[in-house]
Amino acid sequence: MHILLPLLVLLALRVDTRKAVLFAPLALLPDLDAVLGYHRMILHSFIPVVVLPMAFIVYSKYKRPEWLMSALLVQYYLASHIVLDLAGVAFFWPFTTEMLYFQPELRFNLIGGINFEWHFRMGLTAYKPMVDTDFIAQSTFAVLLLLVLAAVVYRHEAKSAVLRVWAIVRSAVLRN
Ligand SMILES: [Zn+2]
Repeated sequence: MHILLPLLVLLALRVDTRKAVLFAPLALLPDLDAVLGYHRMILHSFIPVVVLPMAFIVYSKYKRPEWLMSALLVQYYLASHIVLDLAGVAFFWPFTTEMLYFQPELRFNLIGGINFEWHFRMGLTAYKPMVDTDFIAQSTFAVLLLLVLAAVVYRHEAKSAVLRVWAIVRSAVLRN
């Protein structure tokens, strides 16, 4: 999901497909902090996710304009990871290990008519290392099912998209 969702958004926006595909693995980079035993902390903090990429963007803009698109993609993919993790990330590390959470909910009921209720909860909560987490949560299954259905309905487009992505990855691997 971390790779697929932001990549599909870029492809829908008709961003340079080659660049969008090649930078997509960055969307997984923040989770490497789990290897160090500090999942959702060190690499999910505002420093690697906002400060460093923004510095790269500013540097590119003034010194290396040809890097600007790449710098924007780095920022986009890293930020997208945090947005998808907003159930809880230690975003302000190293200033605090508390986790920022943002949980929007749109509720619906039929009591006395058709009602929508918009709730959101946000704040800071004690750091909880995620020892185990849903690898694929219920909502992710729903999204995956939708993607599969869309791929079946638009199978010709889906097939050519997969072949195109494969060709880009293959040429990148062969070139190195
Ligand atoms: Zn994460």
